[in-house]
Amino acid sequence: MKSVTAFVGLGNMGGPMAANLVKAGHAVRGFDLSEASRDMAAKAGIQVFATLDEAVSGASVVITMLPAGRHVLGVWSELVALVSPGTLLIDCSTIDVDSARKAHALAADKGCLSLDAPVSGGIGGAAAATLTFMVGGPDESFARGKPVLEAMGKRIVHCGAAGSGQAAKICNNMILGVTMAAVGEAFVLGEKLGLSHQALFDVASTSSGQCWSINTYCPVPGPVPTSPANNDYKPGFATALMLKDLRLAQEAALASGATTPLGAQAAQLYGLFEKLGHGGEDFSAIVKFFREQGAA
Ligand code: NAD
Repeated sequence: MKSVTAFVGLGNMGGPMAANLVKAGHAVRGFDLSEASRDMAAKAGIQVFATLDEAVSGASVVITMLPAGRHVLGVWSELVALVSPGTLLIDCSTIDVDSARKAHALAADKGCLSLDAPVSGGIGGAAAATLTFMVGGPDESFARGKPVLEAMGKRIVHCGAAGSGQAAKICNNMILGVTMAAVGEAFVLGEKLGLSHQALFDVASTSSGQCWSINTYCPVPGPVPTSPANNDYKPGFATALMLKDLRLAQEAALASGATTPLGAQAAQLYGLFEKLGHGGEDFSAIVKFFREQGAA
């Protein structure tokens, strides 16, 4: 049996991630505010507790997977009063860079090691233990955390100092939001010009227009059978989550003085698309926005 790991936030992502730690032989103690999440986790072999205090007792590693920065700072403020110095705290949530750095500072004040380690790969990757972890924090923390993360993912990338994991995540997702919008509007222009989806795909996916948004996740049904477009745009990666990441990128751009006009435009487009009632659809459904606007 490996060391005791505590997992806080056993939702859509945290639940299956904690279950993979159990499969890898970790003794996992878990806590979530939601009884439904606790019940699901208990079925996957996680020892669940009704309080944070009990869940982290005796843990040498504590992992959090929570909705946003305020939840992470709230939980980490409590955590540092509960765990012993030397405990490794890992946050896998997607949060703003500033909150991530504040969380690292809380840990350092208590003599704990810490990592920000957001993921890509979604619920499918969480279940299959194929997530990519983008990790920020000191070398010593990374060396201790890597074997733990390896039980939940297949690529673990050390991106740099505290906050660098979150920085990498929002930069990557800003590229994704912008390219998906670009690919969507190109397909709708093609439709207006009488070009078939397959013809545009055959050209662009092998020419200078190629990118993940067209080659792997094509936003129209047909050319890439595994893309959500073939499954009525069921996520996948929901529009609401893409919007969250694009807004985090905009906050970071404002705070750091970076110029990101395309990221700003993408945030606005996904914001409008969500307002129109598409927040629960896969983000590639943005192609419908251009079609609907063009028809107006
Ligand atoms: P979720 O809402 O399913 O799970 C979050 C869980 O945290 C819930 O079960 C909630 O009850 C619990 N929680 C909230 N506050 C708490 C507290 N103070 N103490 C204990 N538990 C608390 O969300 P999710 O889809 O699992 O996403 C978690 C994080 O992962 C988010 O930051 C999200 O942006 C990121 N993420 C999600 C996906 C995805 O596809 N769902 C992909 C990549 C990254």
